[in-house]
Amino acid sequence: MSQSRKKPNILVTGTPGTGKTTTASALVEATSLRHINIGDLVRERNLHDGWDDQLDCHIINEDLVCDELEEMMEEGGNIVDYHGCDFFPERWFDCVVVLQTENSVLYDRLTKRGYTGAKLTNNMECEIFQVLLEEAKNSYSEDIVVPLRSDTIDDMDRNVATLTDWARNWQPRC
Ligand code: ADP
Ligand code: MN
Repeated sequence: MSQSRKKPNILVTGTPGTGKTTTASALVEATSLRHINIGDLVRERNLHDGWDDQLDCHIINEDLVCDELEEMMEEGGNIVDYHGCDFFPERWFDCVVVLQTENSVLYDRLTKRGYTGAKLTNNMECEIFQVLLEEAKNSYSEDIVVPLRSDTIDDMDRNVATLTDWARNWQPRC
């Protein structure tokens, strides 16, 4: 395992609405890590192959995204925020956080965001069937995959505190 980076890379994943962006933003406030929101990056740098009308989102070009990130990830000190995790190189991450939210709470968050129909159903099913937890466990060593509950503000505060401590204590391997 190559570990020349001086700071850790954290992947924050989970179903849309579980609190990835809010948690990552709070974590940036508390640490000297850099927030990389993959959705924003894809939009800003056109790292996609057009728009998927059915899923109502960009068709992300995974190769372009990985090329774009490689240098920063080698450097370390990144919090990557995305609702997918199976296409990043395994060696990039020291910790893979999977945020999870109770169904009724998530339902309210997604409807508040304006999600309806298939988009709402798909995302609810994604959470019910723990798709991201499975994907994370299949893509990374199980001992770096950390499921964290994200139902309440207290949960979020606790998660940010835990991850801040973890990042501060992280040591590069030599
Ligand atoms: P994601 O980036 O995973 O799609 P967001 O961070 O955008 O999720 O959060 C979606 C909404 O839910 C936001 O309005 C946010 O304030 C709220 N939220 C997220 N996590 C929590 C939490 N743990 N407790 C209360 N509200 C939360
Ligand atoms: Mn987000």
